Amino acid sequence: MPAERIDGVAIAAKVRARVAVDAAALKQRGVTPGLTVVLVGDDPASAFYVGAKEKACKEAGMNGETIRLPATTTEAELLAVVDRLNADPAVHGILVQMPVPKQISAQAVIRRIAPEKDVDGFHPVNAGKVLIGDADGFAPCTPAGVQVMLMEAGVDTSGKEAVVLGRSTIVGKPMAALLIQSGKGADCTVTICHSRTKDLASHTRRADILIAAIGKPEMVTADMVKPGAVVIDVGINRVDDPSQKKGYRIVGDVKYDEVSQVASKITPVPGGVGPMTIAMLLANTVRAATLSAKPEGAR
Ligand code: NDP
Repeated sequence: MPAERIDGVAIAAKVRARVAVDAAALKQRGVTPGLTVVLVGDDPASAFYVGAKEKACKEAGMNGETIRLPATTTEAELLAVVDRLNADPAVHGILVQMPVPKQISAQAVIRRIAPEKDVDGFHPVNAGKVLIGDADGFAPCTPAGVQVMLMEAGVDTSGKEAVVLGRSTIVGKPMAALLIQSGKGADCTVTICHSRTKDLASHTRRADILIAAIGKPEMVTADMVKPGAVVIDVGINRVDDPSQKKGYRIVGDVKYDEVSQVASKITPVPGGVGPMTIAMLLANTVRAATLSAKPEGAR
């Protein structure tokens, strides 16, 4: 029987609707949640993402502002902008779109953002909070979105073998950190694999929940998947396809057609994890606004 398709567009819409309700409740209390995105340079893909984030904020009844800076911006100039946003009480979330031009240290910028406004969840304080299971921390949006998808799709994660392919700071490592916590959508026994892992298939075949975040087009094939596994495909890869008008198509890290014959549930690409990322960014921003509206001692 073919796998059930986990619909990321529908789940993301649900998250965004919940965000809109929370944003409206905050507005009643005089707080409009605000996300400011800083874009340095004119990379077309980054400009597209930034535009999508601004639009999503407005649709959820939040303030979404974009600060566009020239590609020649120095690190000191960008840090000064971050400082100003850190000090602005109307700004609850700050996101500096990556990658930044090479004269700027991405790490310096990430570390300068106030952790309580770091809705991307990249600041070391938030990475630490996610690891220790501190509910005040902000998890990076993509793995947080995967966890929400598992819960919304009714996947019982408790006691399951989860195998995460990829150990990046933005996906693989925080994904594993979320799944090992105790509680809903977690309590997994987690294995992280990477490019030095020996006999990758011996690990993936053990997985009740397999999460692929490696950036290798359709690398996960049916013979690597345990029958009945839940397969989450984070990968977004562009492959040449002369039959398409634009000359390429987007595929995941998983060979969908064959893996969907083995798995019990699977996310497609596109239309799977991708839409969750912006939804979780909005959710993190509303939470940042909620926390900021609480009196100091109640946080
Ligand atoms: P990175 O390139 O930062 O990390 C890739 C990871 O995969 C690394 O840990 C690497 O290992 C590992 N890897 C690479 N090749 C293999 C292999 N053959 N076998 C096992 N492990 C391997 O990528 P990201 O984590 O940033 O992104 C992963 C994918 O997810 C990409 O396709 C990206 O486009 C997509 N993505 C999608 C998002 C969404 O919104 N849906 C958001 C973010 C990313 P090593 O560390 O040893 O090099």
